[in-house]
Amino acid sequence: MPLSRARAALKSVFGYDDFRPGQDEVIGAVLAGENVLAVMPTGSGKSMCYQLPAVVDGGLTVVVSPLIALMRDQVQQMGHVGVAAATLNSGNGDEANRETLKRLRAGEVSLLFVSPERLAGDGLISLLAASSVRRLAIDEAHCVSQWGHDFRPEYRQLAQVRQALGNVQVVALTATADQATRNDIASQLFPAPPRIVVHSFDRPNLHLRFEAKDKPRNQIADFLERHRGSNGILYAASRDRTEKLAEWLCGKGVRALAYHAGLDAAVRSQRQDVFLQEDGVVMCATIAFGMGINKPDVRFVIHADLPSGVEAYYQEIGRAGRDGLPAETLTLYGIDDFAFRRRQIDEKAISDAQRQLEHRRFSAMIDLAEAVTCRRQALLAYFGETSGPCGACDLCQGGAELVDATVDAQKVLSAVMRTGQRYGAGHLVDILRGEASDNVRRLGHDQIKTFGVGAARGANEWRTVIRQLFAAGALAEASAEHGGFRLTDTGENILFGRETIALRKSREAPKRARRSEARENRTSGLDDAASSLFEALRALRREIAREEGVAAYMVFPDRTLIEMAETKPATLAEMREVQGVGERKLSLYGEVFLERIAEIG
Ligand code: ADP
Ligand code: ZN
Repeated sequence: MPLSRARAALKSVFGYDDFRPGQDEVIGAVLAGENVLAVMPTGSGKSMCYQLPAVVDGGLTVVVSPLIALMRDQVQQMGHVGVAAATLNSGNGDEANRETLKRLRAGEVSLLFVSPERLAGDGLISLLAASSVRRLAIDEAHCVSQWGHDFRPEYRQLAQVRQALGNVQVVALTATADQATRNDIASQLFPAPPRIVVHSFDRPNLHLRFEAKDKPRNQIADFLERHRGSNGILYAASRDRTEKLAEWLCGKGVRALAYHAGLDAAVRSQRQDVFLQEDGVVMCATIAFGMGINKPDVRFVIHADLPSGVEAYYQEIGRAGRDGLPAETLTLYGIDDFAFRRRQIDEKAISDAQRQLEHRRFSAMIDLAEAVTCRRQALLAYFGETSGPCGACDLCQGGAELVDATVDAQKVLSAVMRTGQRYGAGHLVDILRGEASDNVRRLGHDQIKTFGVGAARGANEWRTVIRQLFAAGALAEASAEHGGFRLTDTGENILFGRETIALRKSREAPKRARRSEARENRTSGLDDAASSLFEALRALRREIAREEGVAAYMVFPDRTLIEMAETKPATLAEMREVQGVGERKLSLYGEVFLERIAEIG
């Protein structure tokens, strides 16, 4: 039985007791020689779906991967568990690449990681054809699709590569759930429809939370308060904002770094290394930071600005909690995000079809932000999955209360109507609150009937109403160039009393309660003694990682250290039972960790 052999290797090589959901089906099909497209969320353990078969049935697996950093990490990781892996890429230097070619010819490599352009370039294919490749694994397979968010033209050549290698078996993997993208992958990379294994996109360990922007820095600071010393990512919409946020956090004593495409490649890769190798770093980044970040113990992801679509949002929050332990997410959004993203789409779009698609994607993101029932349910519904309320997201835990807001809405809509349907939120709020700003006076808007009808409420409350009216489709953008709002049909119906509208009541978040609750699950319910042992093991791991120049998690992931802190193994045999301890790591690190546990535990 190939699958039981695979299970045995899972334990002896990787130290894991069982498959994660979906892995057994994919690995079973791969070992049976089928062509497979695996669609599984980030953190579900997709890599194992080609790593383990390579270990079990030998031969050479060529793994196509879009990023040098990803390849380098995987080669190191495989080295750590004793699997012969190598990479060919321009970052290696000629010497190292020649050495790899020699090992390939000698049949000493199980996993070869290459970039698509390298693979399609001359020479390599014929060499590989002679080394009898057993299968081609295509990681981040959505890069082949123009509909995806990471289109890479070189991926288009992979079908030819497959043929040139003698129609070898193909395993393609992606975390992109979009149906259009999925169909594209299936038709472009496979000679005939492959077996498609789709695993649920639910990530129960990720806590979902959205908050309307209201002094965003305070909101971020509050959240970080609960995550001191943890690894996290803070996404922001512009390069400039990532720099400012990082600077601000450093000033608060948080170890923060900025990351965006405008930085020198060397600086980027140095910062990425710090994030990967060390504990307690917060990366303030644009979307440029992401693919290839396979650090398993990222404990939180914050979006300081609303992402451009649900797909992107899901990918980004998905970088937290890959190890399966609880992780928290927070997404901040405001009406400025709506305008900003829409402008960005119009500026970037290369065709009408693409622009429409991007606008639709963004509208779905707004809907998710303004959702009033279970957030997780809404998220999964976007990916075509039906589920019940999760009971654990921000909305399930006390969430949003809808109240009739027709009168407030009419005040806003009237202000829009009476000023000629062209002004933005700031100006409208001034009018509602009766603030005679220069603009208001110059335009004579202090004379209209709506001036001051909303004086009893704060500016932020009015912005919230405007934002929700926009999200509910009662207001639309007046013009693509200048922003501003106009009434839609729905808006007119509400204004003239033909329709009512319910909006969410703004509510104070119960901050104190949340704080203690989160602190508890940060160390996953460890008692004090186990907790300090865990910290000591982490320190030991850090020393080893520094010495070896590898990422901390490659020594052992958090999850493994937590289990050690709980069970306190006293012998190598007991250590072997701990999840994440395979034979090779047992011989490399078993003794030192046992010593440290004996000392402190
Ligand atoms: P993906 O590529 O799907 O995002 P990875 O392949 O990076 O996920 O795996 C995420 C983490 O899960 C890795 O640290 C990996 O070692 C671990 N992992 C994979 N399979 C298992 C398993 N069966 N049991 C426990 N951990 C696993
Ligand atoms: Zn929920």
